[in-house]
Amino acid sequence: MESGLYVVATPIGNLGDITARALEVLRAADLIAAEDTRHTSRLLQHFSIASPLFAYHEHSDARAQQRIMACIAGGGVVALVSDAGTPLISDPGYRLVREVQEAGHRVVPLPGPCAAIAALSASGLPTDRFLFEGFLPAKAGARTRRLQDLASESATLVFYEAPHRVADTLNDMVATLGEQREGLLARELTKTFETLKRASLGELASFVAADSNQQRGEIVLVVSGQRERDDTLSADTARLLQRLAQELPAKRAAAVVAELTGLRKKQLYDFLLEQR
Ligand code: SAM
Repeated sequence: MESGLYVVATPIGNLGDITARALEVLRAADLIAAEDTRHTSRLLQHFSIASPLFAYHEHSDARAQQRIMACIAGGGVVALVSDAGTPLISDPGYRLVREVQEAGHRVVPLPGPCAAIAALSASGLPTDRFLFEGFLPAKAGARTRRLQDLASESATLVFYEAPHRVADTLNDMVATLGEQREGLLARELTKTFETLKRASLGELASFVAADSNQQRGEIVLVVSGQRERDDTLSADTARLLQRLAQELPAKRAAAVVAELTGLRKKQLYDFLLEQR
């Protein structure tokens, strides 16, 4: 195996989600840089892997980074893992990846589990554009301001949330984004008590408030973006679109107008369908 830093995704609950490549790299690694060595040692034990473990986390000092760099410079293989899922996604590693790249060594991603992508893939909400927001601020005021900034965003929104804050966060979402906005609560993904519930934000807030079990475990919230309304089309755009649709198939007409106006093809196409 070529030397370098291998960024290895690990399961977010179900150990069956480990990939064949992840096992191969973890077995071959000269060093496994782990966010929490006790946590990762349980994973390694399960797969009978005995490669040396080493703590690398947000508060690691320069020496920890130097040790990793020296290993790679000496021709070694270093695997970077976080407690669960894909390293660097709301997890440490960004500075290390940069340093390895800048020193001219290889950085090799090993794709695999990621809670945000798992939730999104089963959300039933549009996935053509999404905004990963990670964790919202813990303090109520800052959280509300952040949500207000996101209120007009049309892409689907993806948040990580701590279980003891999920009820408050859903209430804040109702207040800032509206109770009718659709959302998904994805809890304990890939684990025994996996829950996936798609409903309006108002319903989700009531569901979580009424059942303390929904305020446990690990949680991803996915929220629909603000839907563009047909009346955002100016009268000129609507006229142009309708005239073109008399000459061209609706999809083609929508594509041409999207190109000319910068509006989304789907919005224009949906407008034409509703006019029929
Ligand atoms: N790097 C990880 C990834 O790729 O998903 C995320 C790390 S972040 C520190 C941890 C957060 O991810 C949790 O607080 C929760 O919001 C989410 N998460 C992780 N595992 C999860 C699971 N099994 N079900 C739902 N959410 C999960």
